[in-house]
Amino acid sequence: MAQALYRKWRPQTFDEVSGQEHVLQTLRNAIASGRIAHAYLFSGPRGTGKTTMARLLAKAVNCTNPDLSARPDNTCAICTAIADGRMLDLVELDAASNRGIDEIRDLRDKINFAPGQSRYKVYIIDEVHMLTEPAFNALLKTLEEPPPHAIFVLATTDPQKVPATIVSRCQPFGFRRLTLGEISSRLQHLVDEEGLTAEAGALTLIARQATGSMRDAVSLLDQLAAGGADITLDRAQTALGAGSLRWVSDVLDALGHVDAAGGLNAINHAIDSGADARQFARQIVEQLRAVMLIKLGEGRLIDLSNEQRSQFEAQAARLELDRLTRAIKLFNQAASDLRGGWQPQLPLELALIESLQQPTVATVVTAAVPVVRHAPQPAAKPHPVVEQHQSSMTAPVQPVTQAPALPAESVHTVGAAFS
Ligand SMILES: [Zn+2]
Repeated sequence: MAQALYRKWRPQTFDEVSGQEHVLQTLRNAIASGRIAHAYLFSGPRGTGKTTMARLLAKAVNCTNPDLSARPDNTCAICTAIADGRMLDLVELDAASNRGIDEIRDLRDKINFAPGQSRYKVYIIDEVHMLTEPAFNALLKTLEEPPPHAIFVLATTDPQKVPATIVSRCQPFGFRRLTLGEISSRLQHLVDEEGLTAEAGALTLIARQATGSMRDAVSLLDQLAAGGADITLDRAQTALGAGSLRWVSDVLDALGHVDAAGGLNAINHAIDSGADARQFARQIVEQLRAVMLIKLGEGRLIDLSNEQRSQFEAQAARLELDRLTRAIKLFNQAASDLRGGWQPQLPLELALIESLQQPTVATVVTAAVPVVRHAPQPAAKPHPVVEQHQSSMTAPVQPVTQAPALPAESVHTVGAAFS
């Protein structure tokens, strides 16, 4: 039916942008003072506003408002043409689907023609890291001698893969994940504009599920709005499979209690109830990170509700720091291994089991050698501070963490070592 909310409410002026203040401020100053670069590199996670900002920049450099600091005004002929997607001097190329040399050659052939309608031709190359090597070389030649009327905005979610020769020609801007507060208040704004009603808890849940991506958050809101104008927490939980958040916490509890069976159970329940394995892995990493920061006394770095904070603090008290960091690495790895796997829960299960093993065997899945070797070295106390902290919280559980990490019956490979 209607246009997707994300497109419909895409910010049309700098004032409408949520977050990314550091980027906004620098671009505004550049526009107001007329100091415009020929190439920009926008890097950051997906859905954080890189393409939106690139289009705003295309508007701002071409806007005809005599007050430089009011650009883009979104009212002049150029601004409206860009907003309507009919400005020929704005060329957008998605390098994820047009990776090759032909597209870049075509761009180079045309770039020397002066713009038709506006001051600058603006080229936005999205996911620029996907270009092939010959395409990068061709692009580099263009960036080395850009015609005065050309501006490039290269956007990427993976700046490490952009050649240094390209990066060094660009003014870099890092986009960060949006905070829970930034996403929730934007969602509330859209709800009001669209004449919907939504419980605050539902919007917080959507914001949390989106893990910093405004695009994901607005798409989730869109899905829910399609099912009815009254967005309750209950509906949001059902629709978003946010049961999965409960299972995320169960996985962390299992890590804290060295309970392999409980962890496997939680993973399988989450997947069976329809959670996306990759998203589930990300949520686990997200929560593990929060717990780690709390453990390190840096809990203020994260947005949490009071209820979550006390839950995470309890998990932080139970989890040793080395297990925590190992679990973060392993589940993060699982999240990237999950592309098109035929058995979606397997990488998660492996991450769980490996996280529960003792540090020295962490990299060995078939743990025939394990733990026992480890036992006669009581002198090894790598984290005395953490242990002290722990013993005050969970004194009775302490001996378990010194024993072999896994109950023999919970993992077959370990069981073999005891037979
Ligand atoms: Zn304008």
